[in-house]
Amino acid sequence: MLREVLRGRNAEIFIAPRTKDELAVAVGACARARVPITVRGAGSGQFGQGVPLSGGAVIDVAAITGIVDWADKSRALPTSVRARTGTIVSDIDAHLRRSGWELRMHPSSAQHATIGGYIAGGHAGVGSCQWGILRDTGNITAIEVMTVEEQPRLVELRGAAVTAVQHAFGANGIITEVELPVAPAWEWHELVVSFPTFEQALRFSVDLGNSDGLLTKVISPQAHPLPRYLPELADLVPDGDSMVLALVAVQSVPNVVDLIAATGGTLRYRCREGKGCYGSPLYEFTWGHSLSRYQRHNPELVGLMGLFPPDRLYQSLAAVHRDCADLGPLKVELKRVGGRLSAQGSPIIDFVSKAHLERATERLEALGVSVANPHTPLLGAGGMKPWGANEAALKREMDPFALLAQGKVEPESSLALATGLPNRGWTY
Ligand SMILES: Cc1cc2nc3c(=O)[nH]c(=O)nc-3n(C[C@H](O)[C@H](O)[C@H](O)COP(=O)(O)OP(=O)(O)OC[C@H]3O[C@@H](n4cnc5c(N)ncnc54)[C@H](O)[C@@H]3O)c2cc1C
Repeated sequence: MLREVLRGRNAEIFIAPRTKDELAVAVGACARARVPITVRGAGSGQFGQGVPLSGGAVIDVAAITGIVDWADKSRALPTSVRARTGTIVSDIDAHLRRSGWELRMHPSSAQHATIGGYIAGGHAGVGSCQWGILRDTGNITAIEVMTVEEQPRLVELRGAAVTAVQHAFGANGIITEVELPVAPAWEWHELVVSFPTFEQALRFSVDLGNSDGLLTKVISPQAHPLPRYLPELADLVPDGDSMVLALVAVQSVPNVVDLIAATGGTLRYRCREGKGCYGSPLYEFTWGHSLSRYQRHNPELVGLMGLFPPDRLYQSLAAVHRDCADLGPLKVELKRVGGRLSAQGSPIIDFVSKAHLERATERLEALGVSVANPHTPLLGAGGMKPWGANEAALKREMDPFALLAQGKVEPESSLALATGLPNRGWTY
C-alpha cells in the first residue's frame, strides 16, 4: 500500500550535518527560505514516516552522535543516560552495560536505529513487558529539541511535555538530545519454547507476563506455522507446534521452567543473550523484526497493530486465534501499557487488497482489539499517537512556519483515502 502511494515523493535537498551547530545552520537556512524539512535517522521506520511528502530537504541527523554522559553525576548510582540524536541505540546499551546498567527498552532494530528516530518514530519494544511503552510516564526523562526558526533555539522538555514529541514523526521539533532512565543489566537468557497448541502458548505467555516476581524482557507467542517461516529457528520447534520466544533474567529461569511444565510446553533451546545458534539476538525474531523475517518466506505477508484488552487478555487472544484463523496465524508481543499487561500484534495476513485489510480491521475491532494502522505515514490515520492540543501548541512554538513533516498531521485527502483503514486507534 505504501509503496504505491509514496512512489515519487522525493526530497530536493539532502543535508547531513555532523554537529548540533551545523544542524542549526541548515535549519536556519531552511527556515529563511521556507523549505519543508523531513528529519531522518537510520531510516528504519516502516510506516513511511520518514518520506518527504512535499519535497524540500531531508536532514539526516545520523552523524550527530555520542553519549553526553550519565545525566546526574552527583548521585552514587546512575539514574539516566543522555545521548545525541544520531547515537545507535545498541551503542548506548553497550556503553551502559560496562557499568552494570542498560536501557529499559529498545526496538528490535536497536543495532541500526538511532535513539532520536526511536523516540520520534518508535513506540515500544524489547523490555516493554517489564517497563511499559515509551509513552508511559517516566520512560523518557527529557528531550532537547531544536526549533525551526530563522535563528533556531534549543528547548529542553521534561515531565509530561515529552509525550508531545514522542511518536510525532518529527512534526513538532527536531530532537537533538535524549535523556532516558536506566535499568539494571541482568544476565539475560534466551528461551525457545514449543507448545502443541497455541492456546497453551498463550496461557504460558500471559501467566509469565503477569508474574510480577519474574524478570522478563521479551515474551512473543507465535502460532503455527510461523516457526516454519523462520529457517534459523524451524529445526528447534517440532512441525505443527507453536512457539514462545522469551528473554528472561537468569535468576528467573527456574521459575519459568516450572511455568513451561505447568502449561504443557517444552524448553527447546536456552542460551545467554546473543549467543544463540540462530546467528542473531533472539529479539531479532520478535517485534518489528519478526514480520520482516516472515516476509523472506512470503513477501506479501503483512500485519496490523492490534492492542489487546488487559481485562480479558488471554480470552481475547484466544478468541482472535480461533475466530480469525482464516486471516492468518497470530503473532503478538506482550507489553505493559498504562500499568497493565496487554499484547500487541495481529494475525499475519497474506495481503490480498486494501479492502481485505479493512475487513480484517473491522473483525479485530469487533472482538475488542484496538487497531492501529501501520500502512500509513499519517499520524491521525495511524492511530498510535493522539494529536491533541498539547501536540499542536508545541508545533506552533517549535515550527512557526509549519515546515516540519509536512502532510503528516494535516494530510492531503487523497493520501488519507488511499492509506486509511476503518480503525479506531489506541487510547491512553
Ligand atoms: C526490522 C524493524 C524492527 C523494528 N522494531 C521496532 C520495535 O521493536 N519497536 C518500535 O517501536 N519500532 C520498531 N521499528 C520501527 C522504528 O520506528 C525504528 O526501527 C526506529 O526506532 C526508528 O529509528 P530510525 O533511526 O531508523 O528513525 P527513522 O526511520 O529515520 O525516523 C523515524 C521517524 O522519526 C523522525 N525522526 C528521526 N530522527 C528525528 C529527530 N532527530 N527529530 C525529530 N524527528 C526525527 C523521522 O522523520 C521519522 O518520522 C522497527 C523497524 C524495523 C524495520
